[in-house]
Amino acid sequence: MAAALVRLCAIIGPLFLGALTMLYTGRPAVAFFAGAAVLAIAILASDAWIIARRAWVTGVLALATHIVLLLFFKGYSPSPFPAGASLSDPLPPASPPAGMALYVLPTGVNHRTAAFARRGGSPWERWESVSNAVLVEHPRGDVLIDAGFGRLIRAQLGAMPLFFRLLTDLEQSQPAADQLTATGYDFKRLRFILLTHAHWDHVSGVPDFPSVPVLVTAAEHRFIYASGFPNAPARTIDPKRYQDYGFDGGRYLGFEQSHDLYGDGSIVIVAAPGHTPGSVVVFVTLPSGARYAFVGDLVWQLEGLAQREQRPWLEARVLGEDPSAVQDSMRRLNAIVTRYPQMKIVASHDPRGYVGIPEWPRSAAPPPPENARTH
Ligand SMILES: [Zn+2]
Ligand SMILES: [Zn+2]
Repeated sequence: MAAALVRLCAIIGPLFLGALTMLYTGRPAVAFFAGAAVLAIAILASDAWIIARRAWVTGVLALATHIVLLLFFKGYSPSPFPAGASLSDPLPPASPPAGMALYVLPTGVNHRTAAFARRGGSPWERWESVSNAVLVEHPRGDVLIDAGFGRLIRAQLGAMPLFFRLLTDLEQSQPAADQLTATGYDFKRLRFILLTHAHWDHVSGVPDFPSVPVLVTAAEHRFIYASGFPNAPARTIDPKRYQDYGFDGGRYLGFEQSHDLYGDGSIVIVAAPGHTPGSVVVFVTLPSGARYAFVGDLVWQLEGLAQREQRPWLEARVLGEDPSAVQDSMRRLNAIVTRYPQMKIVASHDPRGYVGIPEWPRSAAPPPPENARTH
């Protein structure tokens, strides 16, 4: 009996160790780390037993699973891809109208680590993966870039697979729609919700804006109705709300095609597939001349772009990414940043990208009743 247990530990222990490591890098907790440490010691002891007993069949099977484990770890190791060609395109002209403004509406964080975010990231480096909505005020109609965690986030998460819920440790703050309501925002101004892509954490808040059209590319529209849990919340949204747009504009900063939303160069969308088939980058230019590139989940951390490091193998597999398309889009973005360092890159989940973008003015909440004022 004891010998059978030792054999079992030697053969399937490494697979459990891989799963525990994954859970640890996604949701660093003492329980996962301690469990992995105990399992690693048990596996080594089982190996010693195999060698002492000369149990060669068990040994070969154990060796095979050890190799699988090493390959799993390799998926987290640094693996920078080569840089692409440099960019010679001029900075595209833009005539953003006066009165245009940009605000961020923080809706929550997911507690993760750098190891989870990019190859070569440390499992010891905590990373607060933010989920935000971004409001672009524009005289022709405001645009919300992604919707962040909404009122239904707990129910949406509850419908996800168990392993994903174990990997997800999120803290919600006020949904974007509630922040806007609290400050007396006129919802008639909101013309579109523009998705960088249709993953759960970007569409969660969409149902909180029941009548606002949701702009998607045709590729992302198809992706929504393909199978897969990360896009399941997008499937629950009224299908009539999705509005496709095409790339009818020319080359834009190294991307072959573009779509200029209002025809003034202030909000220009380019296709950047890979993370999902219809992922986009949204370029926003403000009257001040400030330029932003909202890159969605092309990278989770800005270092990924600078160091040309993609997501770890397992995360990319679970999300069903196309790694070569992600690389291609990252190369183009990298060339833009090298040529035009003034372009501010906003990766959806990296808090550092939002520095300099004002938060939606919570302080502009409706004034207190007259008799509650102190002066
Ligand atoms: Zn995503
Ligand atoms: Zn995301």
